Amino acid sequence: MRKKLRLGIMGGTFDPIHYGHLVTAEEALVQFNLDRVLFMPTGVPVRKSHRMVTSSEHRYLMTVIATASNPDFVVSRMEVDRPGLTYTVDTMLALRAEYGSSAELYFITGADAVWDILSWRDSDRLADVCTFIAATRPGYDLSRFEQDEVSQHINIEFMEVPALAISSTDIRTRIAQRRPVRYLLPEAVAAYVAKNQLYTDESS
Ligand code: ATP
Ligand code: MG
Repeated sequence: MRKKLRLGIMGGTFDPIHYGHLVTAEEALVQFNLDRVLFMPTGVPVRKSHRMVTSSEHRYLMTVIATASNPDFVVSRMEVDRPGLTYTVDTMLALRAEYGSSAELYFITGADAVWDILSWRDSDRLADVCTFIAATRPGYDLSRFEQDEVSQHINIEFMEVPALAISSTDIRTRIAQRRPVRYLLPEAVAAYVAKNQLYTDESS
């Protein structure tokens, strides 16, 4: 019998993608013995509509550039190509249909973002379709999860990763203020950002 596919899904705005995302995906790949990690840049993000998000095409291309050298990382256009708002549950159901019922789907996310996800539309269905891998900073206090009843309803695994202090928001601010971003994201992504003059306007 063929071995079950173990697929990690790293969803994000990736505006821009940075080493926090890449370190997290790599750690999940190894710790959970995944066959590959599928990076899924969002289309029009539901929860970020207050801010001008960089075009999907730029975010998709930066994700491709950042993951190009890793044979276990692939990038999906599924959400980028879907018109309208992006709901994670729709994506997970589409992946479930594509890979079949025997595939094991692991949704990789920051531990704090798990709380957001559980308040999303259809979070119960989401919990049925996949297991969550929640990245925490070393020493992170997990008691909040252990005590909370939501964590009884979902399959959630915790994983410690370094580099958690990096964020896209901070990188965008740094670029607008002409402060350094080297070593926070891959050089080729930083070059793409400069070439396309992304994030130069502080007000956005
Ligand atoms: P923003 O600052 O715009 O919110 P972000 O850095 O949080 O951007 P997202 O694209 O929103 O990046 O994040 C995608 C996923 O990666 C989310 O699940 C988020 O929790 C996780 N993530 C973001 N930054 C890190 C990090 N430094 N380490 C581990 N996981 C991260
Ligand atoms: Mg975020």
